[in-house]
Amino acid sequence: MVTYKFLNVIENCIDCGGCFVICKGQNGVPKGTARVRVVTINEGVPGEKNVAISCMHCTDPPCVAACPTGAITKREDGIVISDKNKCIGCGYCGWACPFGAPKYPHDLPPDLKEYEGIMDKCSFCVQPFVPVVVDREPKPRCALFCSTKCRLGGPISEITPIYEEMKAGNMGRLQERVV
Ligand code: SF4
Repeated sequence: MVTYKFLNVIENCIDCGGCFVICKGQNGVPKGTARVRVVTINEGVPGEKNVAISCMHCTDPPCVAACPTGAITKREDGIVISDKNKCIGCGYCGWACPFGAPKYPHDLPPDLKEYEGIMDKCSFCVQPFVPVVVDREPKPRCALFCSTKCRLGGPISEITPIYEEMKAGNMGRLQERVV
């Protein structure tokens, strides 16, 4: 069984915002909310770092344990997904998540009002903001389109060796497309 994961090579992120933009487009994420954001640490001082933060599809996800309705589940392939039909917008998953990944969008346009306050987060691109019946292929666009390949996402067996090489300073692998 394939297991999917994200890995960030933080040293390589240039805060271009490409992950944020492509995710919005690919998943139809409305204004006022986002599934991935670049967070800058130590801005403007030596040691500044940028980190793309989204759901990291935890091995043992605390959001799943915290959800009182069973709306959040972890698939066999490691992807953590939520069922908007079961979510009651209680916010418990948001408190439990160490990354602040779950969002509860408000002020949505009329055609999206049924999702007001209902949890939304990264689904590894298998589910857009408005759920579809058949899950899409797990191909996270943030990783596909990351210009410096600091954002790696795909089968863990493929991305771990690349991550290790990049951490060791072998930037030649930057040119490789991971997913
Ligand atoms: Fe982990 Fe947060 Fe994603 Fe749940 S929402 S799997 S706690 S990163």
